[in-house]
Amino acid sequence: MNSLLFDNSYAKLPDRFFARVDPAQPTSPSLIALNRDLALQLGIDPDWLQDPEGLDFLSGRVIAPGSEPIATAYAGHQFGNFVPQLGDGRAILLGEMIDREGRRRDVQLKGAGRTPYSRRGDGRAALGSVLREYLVSEAMAALGIPTTRSLAAIVTGDHVQRDRPLPGAVLVRVAASHIRVGTFQFFAARQDVDALRILADHVIERHYPGAAHADRPYAALLAQVVEAQADLIARWMLVGFIHGVMNTDNMSVAGETIDYGPCAFLDRYDPSTVFSSIDQHGRYAFGNQPQIGLWDLTRFAETLLPLLADDENDAIAIAEEELAKFVPRFAKARVSGLLRKLGIVEAREDDAQLVETVLADLQRNLVDYTLFFRRLSGAVEPGAGEEPVRELFADPTAADALFGTWRARLVLEKRSAAEIKHDMDAVNPAYIPRNHRIEEVISDAEKGDFATFQILCGVLSRPFDDQPEHAAFQDPPLEHERVRATFCGT
Ligand code: AMP
Ligand code: MG
Repeated sequence: MNSLLFDNSYAKLPDRFFARVDPAQPTSPSLIALNRDLALQLGIDPDWLQDPEGLDFLSGRVIAPGSEPIATAYAGHQFGNFVPQLGDGRAILLGEMIDREGRRRDVQLKGAGRTPYSRRGDGRAALGSVLREYLVSEAMAALGIPTTRSLAAIVTGDHVQRDRPLPGAVLVRVAASHIRVGTFQFFAARQDVDALRILADHVIERHYPGAAHADRPYAALLAQVVEAQADLIARWMLVGFIHGVMNTDNMSVAGETIDYGPCAFLDRYDPSTVFSSIDQHGRYAFGNQPQIGLWDLTRFAETLLPLLADDENDAIAIAEEELAKFVPRFAKARVSGLLRKLGIVEAREDDAQLVETVLADLQRNLVDYTLFFRRLSGAVEPGAGEEPVRELFADPTAADALFGTWRARLVLEKRSAAEIKHDMDAVNPAYIPRNHRIEEVISDAEKGDFATFQILCGVLSRPFDDQPEHAAFQDPPLEHERVRATFCGT
């Protein structure tokens, strides 16, 4: 094995942080997707990854020199209920690499067999969930949103039993780290303050080195995680992303989107939208994401209390002060982001109201969220560009009223129509991973046809470019194509 340089830090933490475990042997692995750009970023030769040796590494068949495979321990609140022991039940961390820009990145196999944390699960992943995560995580990266990445997808040649037998697959996932709010909760639940301090120091060194020099490093850590999540969730909302399972074990302290399960993008704008079949009460509905983010962060702050101050009341006061910054931070990121989508760069006093009016109009008129913003740039100047926007509205006259208010505001921008259009097209994607397209990819792939997957991957890698030959991928689902429920990634 050549060309791999592991530099592991998590595996050097105390034994109670993880379990050492070997990946399962796949029967007849074959590579179905390789992210060559990401390989290059990691300093791995993509041609080597396509060779049999590379496949042995990616599929977990051979442990590369320097790799120390582990499954990490964590706990978590699942749909509000605390589970003191979860952990990587179907994921094995091969190790860490320092990428070309000097950033430490985890390389993990998802779906590579049972671990001590598998509970009743088989430790496997079905092809559909692997392709969904590959597509959506790479689409998020192309949209400029912090996320774990997908280096490769492999079919194992084994079958996994779900409601029916499905092809098994492995996703090779790359992340800033896989440390979750639930990782902190694991040690907090055991009142293991030493471990909490070791973990917090590890996270500070790895993700927020500036916090080490703050007067109160652990308060600074909390502050930074709060900021990162407020910004991240605002970014999700701006592109219409619904995570679907915002349990505390699915919230990365590094501020990346992680654990793509029943995630989905909005078609029509409606904050109450839920796709996940396991989210029966809409806890993780599109519009609830900020509140749930803060709820999860509050659980994170609770784990840090013993580190924040000797006196518990002092510690609670510090935690509350930091948590209180979430709502204004999120609101600012959301409003300024929505204004940019409308072509407005500098916020004025009444702009927050404008944003709410636009969203209310979209909701009332069953308007496709992505298409509305993408087409709107064509209507900066009155004329032909209005019709494509109007036709998205159940009542097109509602669009006319909106054009009036919006154009009056654009005049204050003091930029040319061409500049405004250009800026809008740079933040309003033409292409998102629409649910019905993903379902199409999965259904073809389960029949052994990966052509649709390859095409969609290519389209989604350039979400802000007009791609006339792929215009159909912009379209929302027809009524019979509409996906009503997405299923957990298992
Ligand atoms: P999730 O909500 O999908 O992120 O998973 C929650 C927990 O269930 C984590 O501890 C996972 O490792 C575990 N898990 C999910 N699917 C499986 C599986 N097929 N086998 C073993 N553990 C699993
Ligand atoms: Mg998870």
